[in-house]
Amino acid sequence: MLSTPIRYLKGVGDVRSVLLGKMNIFDFRDLLEHYPTRYEDRSQVGITRHLQNGDVLAVYGKIVTVDGRKIRAGLHITTVRIIDAGGAMNLIWFNQQFREKQFRVGLVISAYGKIERNNFGVNMTNPEFELFDSIEDFHNMGIVPIYRLTEGLTSKTIRNILANLLEIVKPESAIPEKVIRETELIDYWQAIRDIHQPSTMQVIKPARDRLIFEEFFALQACIFMHRMHNKGEKSVAKFVKKTKSEQFLQLLPFQLTKAQVEVWQEISADLQNDYPMERLVQGDVGSGKTVVAALALISAVDNGYQATLMAPTEVLATQHYSFLQSYFSSIGVKIALLTGKSKTKPVTLKAIATGEIDVVIGTHAVIQEKVEFSNLGLVVTDEQHRFGVEQRARLKAKGNNPHMLVMTATPIPRTLALTVFGDLDISTIKQLPPGRKPVKTYLRDSKKRKAVYDFAFSQVKSGRQVFVVCPLIEESEKLQAQSAIALYNELSTTFFQDSCCVLLHGQMKQPEKDVAMQLFADGQASVMIATTVIEVGIDIPNAAVMIIEAADRFGLSQLHQLRGRVGRGAHQSYCILLSESSNPDTVRRLMAFTDCNDGFEISDLDLQFRGVGQFFGLRQHGLSDFKIGDIIADYPLMIKAKAAVAAIILHPDGQKTLTDYIDSHFATTPELLKN
Ligand code: ADP
Ligand code: MG
Repeated sequence: MLSTPIRYLKGVGDVRSVLLGKMNIFDFRDLLEHYPTRYEDRSQVGITRHLQNGDVLAVYGKIVTVDGRKIRAGLHITTVRIIDAGGAMNLIWFNQQFREKQFRVGLVISAYGKIERNNFGVNMTNPEFELFDSIEDFHNMGIVPIYRLTEGLTSKTIRNILANLLEIVKPESAIPEKVIRETELIDYWQAIRDIHQPSTMQVIKPARDRLIFEEFFALQACIFMHRMHNKGEKSVAKFVKKTKSEQFLQLLPFQLTKAQVEVWQEISADLQNDYPMERLVQGDVGSGKTVVAALALISAVDNGYQATLMAPTEVLATQHYSFLQSYFSSIGVKIALLTGKSKTKPVTLKAIATGEIDVVIGTHAVIQEKVEFSNLGLVVTDEQHRFGVEQRARLKAKGNNPHMLVMTATPIPRTLALTVFGDLDISTIKQLPPGRKPVKTYLRDSKKRKAVYDFAFSQVKSGRQVFVVCPLIEESEKLQAQSAIALYNELSTTFFQDSCCVLLHGQMKQPEKDVAMQLFADGQASVMIATTVIEVGIDIPNAAVMIIEAADRFGLSQLHQLRGRVGRGAHQSYCILLSESSNPDTVRRLMAFTDCNDGFEISDLDLQFRGVGQFFGLRQHGLSDFKIGDIIADYPLMIKAKAAVAAIILHPDGQKTLTDYIDSHFATTPELLKN
């Protein structure tokens, strides 16, 4: 019943079903789960004298005049004046000439939008609105749910078709009843009715809680099943021998930090389990994750298996390759580099397929179909937030249940880790290698740009190197490249006209990138002007200045990554954020960043300021796609859902209960349970 196409619902038909489709409403269930974004209590609201500038709220009143006029070419204004017992105000639409015909003096209108109060009166521009024949009609509506809409649909239409739907269905939750009883949540069917047709404002909260629980339970059930599944798999092999990894440790010019040792022990233990390792290593930028990954790679080779490390960019893959190459050749580990643009030689592919190559370092190129391993025992992804669940799965599929390690420098706030990476074990490298000086960070108005670059130039004169990051343009790689080129052209002819500057962006050909990287790594170039391609992982100890143009466009975690490119050597390093934004929130956000050098705190800040949707990786997990829940605001319900699932598992028939639940709740196999 619930999977019936929406066009068969009374009041929908062909035209509306297309419009509903635009909001991903295709069947009865989709409509049922199209939850209101807010509610208006129409027995209460009205225009009052207390409307404040900037208030976002609903008003209603009787229309007293309707006026549409062309002010000048290209500017048409429709003004509707409304009154009620409390006062009068104007509703205004720009360049929507057709509006005029929708309104008639004497009708009642309710409008929702932002109040603009000035010397000429009170206005609301481009409000959402609904029309009524009389005040009574309006008040009689009581509490009204308001829905997310698309052009051509009104909240009223959605309310009407939902009313039709609620008359003919009685949906049931797939969660075992006993579980719900123990949570003291209300009945599912009750919750569905209360969320769409609340009789009072008070019933909305319990209804929301129940429906959020429904969503979170589904996620937690998948995570648990995935883990059980994984633990039920037999791993390729136990990696016990450690000859080469011991040799590697001897060759390193430094001692592992205590944190690195601990994490390596956790990994070693995993590698000796009966089931494959699935571990996330998180550690702040510069905490030394690469060495830990290298140990894992070598461990596979020590035990007769191949291993691969996948990095998100060519620059990074190349860097890992050149770092590891010299060590690996000393301990007899054969290594190859695979990237997309450098033509993969058939002989390399063959050597990988025959097992002649032990370790493959590469970009997405590694997961191409033509790449075949002879016996892949371990896969590592670096900077995992750049990869989706699916890419991770494809990499894993290159072997037969290989061990998996994923690394990230964007620490996940503790609250999120449990939820988002519930499917992975987590290790944290909590400490930086000794001798690192915190990077001094400053926020400067773009007006001070000259002083900032003069300072950078003085650093160049004393032998340091400088990174400059161009403003972020999210939409297009191409625009991003243009922005970097423009900045390069400017800086290399002004502040740095006497220095050697190199350019690095994603649209450059690989050989050009290599040249630029090499010049900078060798210290022949003093200034690198780049896009965020340098965000992940580049390691140049002599670089001491990081200038970020239009820093307000970046998220804090991203800024932290960029800042992590400096402060890797013995010199005092500086990170300077340029911004012309005077928005108080932006300034507060950036100021908070200048005071904080800890990646964990920064990711918490990011979460506070930008919310979950912005947070890395969540999109790939589909976690920002909850229909009603918010994993931060509704966190207690997530804990509740997790506990409920854990309780089920403890029962002798727990696994069957969960399998039945998943079968009846999901129409198709959830992403997490595939592969
Ligand atoms: P990230 O965790 O950001 O990937 P890297 O693995 O690139 O960090 O390490 C950053 C730098 O620190 C590298 O130059 C690396 O050689 C160095 N390094 C790693 N571990 C140690 C250590 N225990 N002592 C000193 N330097 C280290
Ligand atoms: Mg790294």
